[in-house]
Amino acid sequence: MGLQAIKGFNDILPAEMNTWQWVENVFRQLLSSYNYGEIRLPLLEYTELFSRSIGDDTDIVEKEMYTFHDRSNRSLTLRPEGTASVVRAFIQHGMAATGNINKLYYLGPMFRYERPQKGRYRQFYQLGAEVFGEEDYHQDAEILIMLARYFHVLGVGSAKLNLNSLGCKHCRPAYRQALQDYLQRHGEYLCGDCQRRMQKNPLRVLDCKRPDCRKVVAEVPKILDYLGVDCQAHFDGVIRLLDEVGIDYHVNPFMVRGLDYYTRTTFEFIAGDLGAQNAVAAGGRYDRLVEELGGKPTPAIGFAIGMERLAMLVDSDSVPVSAPFIYLAALGESALNILYPLRHKLNQAGVGAVLNYRQKSLKNLMKKADRNNVVYTLIAGDQEIEQGAAILRNMKTKEQQTIPLNTLFTNIREVFDGHQNN
Ligand code: ATP
Ligand code: MG
Repeated sequence: MGLQAIKGFNDILPAEMNTWQWVENVFRQLLSSYNYGEIRLPLLEYTELFSRSIGDDTDIVEKEMYTFHDRSNRSLTLRPEGTASVVRAFIQHGMAATGNINKLYYLGPMFRYERPQKGRYRQFYQLGAEVFGEEDYHQDAEILIMLARYFHVLGVGSAKLNLNSLGCKHCRPAYRQALQDYLQRHGEYLCGDCQRRMQKNPLRVLDCKRPDCRKVVAEVPKILDYLGVDCQAHFDGVIRLLDEVGIDYHVNPFMVRGLDYYTRTTFEFIAGDLGAQNAVAAGGRYDRLVEELGGKPTPAIGFAIGMERLAMLVDSDSVPVSAPFIYLAALGESALNILYPLRHKLNQAGVGAVLNYRQKSLKNLMKKADRNNVVYTLIAGDQEIEQGAAILRNMKTKEQQTIPLNTLFTNIREVFDGHQNN
């Protein structure tokens, strides 16, 4: 066998890209309408950025990062997620001081050394966004409503919102203590990793996927019983706004998410149809991260959507097709000489046109036109050319009309404009 792509690294072929581009375009439009600006970030960062933000005891940092030393012996990591880089850029470029744009979105590949399976890859794509400088719970609800709206537009309305609050630096310590006490008393069935995490970072135990650990977790104290007055009001506010617009949600007090930086609101959108890898989007507040990475204290909240999982949920029949508008069927040399410049002119005018170069049989050409899903075919054989005309055929109604060669471009463009306005 010839060379293959690396396991867990996928080619996304044109047939799938149709869905991807639609999903991305709808995302861009929606996010710009909420006043987000796009940010493009490097794929490589200093390893320290991720270990400091995501947390040393998380699965991502402990075992999933692509980390290596470059030729100058610096430790670099292929980004496993987007938030850390956005925060780094926010601080580095003094974006807090420039005021207005504090809403950023990104799309691109992320890398994690995980076991490849359906919905889980080693290079995967995320669509994500971050908002800096807004502490109010309206912002949290705004993001959740925007995401629910996005899934609805894509026909993925079944993705269900799971919600929790992780409290803040004032209420978290008491919960951490209560959790640690409980785990110390009941944690003998926890896995080796969790035995260790229980001491250093007990909240991480809540995120362990092992069945025995999940059984223990189902009984632990709930963070929601430990929220301080402000965190409780914040959480209640988010819930009230969701109720007002009728968004369905499930409060899950054991959801901590796989990254250490979250505070207050955390969430996941879960889609039953996806099987084991069922989270299609996730995110939350991280009010302390900017400060922890060296910036001025700035509240923040964000989310990331898994592109592959989202594309799996989208019904490809509902994706607008981007087929060429017209197939130019040149039957012979003199027809080719006329249609060749015409195709460039049409393409440059934004009319999708494809042209065959070497083909003698009309039947084969019509088959190709059909396969291309075009709206019209222009048929030009030597006989037509001699008579100074070509035949324009509507592929759906099968109606044909003869158009003079010297007005081909204008006529086709008129038909195209008429079709667009329909
Ligand atoms: P999971 O619980 O499925 O491992 P996660 O909590 O690690 O997800 P996040 O780091 O929050 O996920 O990333 C946000 C989204 O990115 C996920 O909800 C998922 O849709 C997607 N995602 C995460 N890891 C992968 C992966 N290895 N392959 C494909 N998509 C992924
Ligand atoms: Mg994961």
